[in-house]
Formats: sequence, structure tokens, C-alpha cells
Amino acid sequence: MRVPQPRKPDPDRRAAIRSRLLRWFRRCRRPLPWRGANPWGVLVSELMLQQTRVATVLRYYEPFLGRFPTPSSLALADMEEVLRTWEGLGYYRRARNLKAIAEAIVRDGWEPLFLRPPTRARAVSPFLRELPGIGAYTAAAVGSIAFGERLAAVDGNTARVFARLEASPLTGARLLRHAEHLSLDWMGRCRPGDWNQAWMELGSTVCAPKPDCDLCPLREQCEAYRLRMQHAFPVRARTPERIERAETVLCAVVDRRVAVCRIEEGPWWSGMYSFPRLEGGEAVRNATKLAQTAYTVTRHRVVLSAYLVRKLPKGVQPTAWIPIEELARLPMPAPQRRIATLLLERFS
Ligand code: SF4
Repeated sequence: MRVPQPRKPDPDRRAAIRSRLLRWFRRCRRPLPWRGANPWGVLVSELMLQQTRVATVLRYYEPFLGRFPTPSSLALADMEEVLRTWEGLGYYRRARNLKAIAEAIVRDGWEPLFLRPPTRARAVSPFLRELPGIGAYTAAAVGSIAFGERLAAVDGNTARVFARLEASPLTGARLLRHAEHLSLDWMGRCRPGDWNQAWMELGSTVCAPKPDCDLCPLREQCEAYRLRMQHAFPVRARTPERIERAETVLCAVVDRRVAVCRIEEGPWWSGMYSFPRLEGGEAVRNATKLAQTAYTVTRHRVVLSAYLVRKLPKGVQPTAWIPIEELARLPMPAPQRRIATLLLERFS
């Protein structure tokens, strides 16, 4: 691909981008429940939105805040109840992180500030950056939206818009840094929260991976559009290969009690429950196949087979045998929940 030359700074273009973007945002933004929420609501929404679509988060945001309306209500809650409330939203480490963040907010005396309406110009991001699960983007988003901090919040969605506007050949972290620099440079005297949300909104709804340039307020300022190369930006970095895996779980039911295992510390789902697993994806002899399902976690594609058995093989130790009806109240990852639902139907 021919790499376009970097643009010279152009104050008129910058002013046009600023006014068109903000006017469009005031007119077209979606009425999301976390707009205008207090800082606690903004923080919860940003954690939920990490690697998750708005449409999915909409199903979980209000029930979660209804159950945990303050940092202290979450800090004092039982972790299993937190995971059960989060169940289905995925990336469960975020639920653990959010609880640890709530504990830190309460412990360090920040709670009153998180329960007021959004305030202006409070430097909260250095405190947030110390907490688990809060990187530069989330700290900047919460800092700017809830506390008026002058920070650029640039994630992959926003970086894509900048890459197209500038027809930038950069990829990955270099593109993010460049987009952050441009965003701060162009922000001028705008309210940082509105500014950042306007870019996020444009990246989510118009300049999506398949851009809808006819609806775009920045079409005249967009270099990729001028070159008719919108689909060439951002330049694709090489994606890592997918790893295929098979897993087997055993649904052992005896006298209406079922064996379950608590998932220990690890990269995924720690603290939740699964059915006992067998290493590898081998078929199980003398057992009824209950279900086969597939799921994807990061770059792993897993085919999960579940078998109904009357006893567990030697060496497979469950954490507990529980009445089968209690499966409904245990926090479980989505693939295990699908199996639990089938099992409950079968034994109802
Ligand atoms: S004109 Fe098209 S490619 Fe350019 S910013 Fe707008 S939607 Fe994105």
C-alpha cells in the first residue's frame, strides 16, 4: 500500500473537526443509562465495557447497579453473589477487580466523591491507575467523564477513527499513542468528558469496522475518505493464530446430588464453579453424552463435551456434592451454565 505522507497541522481543519464532532454528538448520541450517572455508575460502566459491546452491557448495567448502588455495598458483598450477578457478561476477572476497586475506594475515603453528581477537575486518575483492572484508557475515561480531567481516552474504537481521519500507517501501541496525542492537541477548551464520549460514539456507531461514511460528520475532514481508502485503515497488524482445544466435563448425579468443582486461581473464571473436568477431550466410556457446545476465550476455541455419569473416575475430586436445584444459584461460566440448564431440565 502506498503510505500517505503525514499531514501538516491545519488550525481550520482542527476547528472544523471539533465543532462538527461535538454538534453531531449533541444531536445523535444514544441515550445510554450511564450518561450523566454519578462517578460510581461511570466506573461500573467502563469496567463492564472493557472488551464487551454496549448492547450486551445494557442488559447487565442497571441490575448490577440496582444490587450494588454504592462502592461500600459491593465492597461488603460476598464474592459468589458478585460473580452470580455478573454471570453471562464474561471476563470475570473484571468482577473481582471491581470489588477490589470498591474496597479501595471505601478504604481510602473516596466514596463520597464517587456518589456525587459528576464533578469538575478533580485529579482522580492517579488514584485509579493504582487499582486492579484500570489501565490508561479506563482511568482517562472515568477521570474525564466523571471528574472533568483533561485526559484523552483512546481505545481501539477511537484509534480506528483517528487512523482513518489521518490515513495513518501506524498500528498497535504506536497508533494509540499517536491518537492520544492528536486527541489532546485537538481538544482545546471542550469539556473533556464530552470530547472523549463523542469520539467513542463516532467509533462505535458510524466509523465502525465497516464505516458508514454517508452519516459521518467528519467526512470532509477525513483523509481516508478523500483517498477512497476507508477500508485500508487502520493498517492490519498480524493476528496471532487461533488455538483449538477440546474439553470434557462429567455431570455426576447420585440421589439428586451433583458434583461440582470450584475453579481455582487462574487466567479465567477463578472463584466460579464448573462440573469436574477430564484432561483433554477424550470420549467417556459407558456414559451418556449430555451435550456438546463450543466457546471462544481470547484466542482459544474450545469444544466442550459433557457426559452424564453415575460415579467419577479415580483421581477426579469434586469440591462438593450439592442438591441439583442449587446449581441455579452457583456462579458458573456461560458454557457450564448451558450444561447446567440442560441437566436441570433433565432432572426436573
Ligand atoms: S468519513 Fe468514513 S472513514 Fe472517515 S471518519 Fe467518517 S466514517 Fe470514518
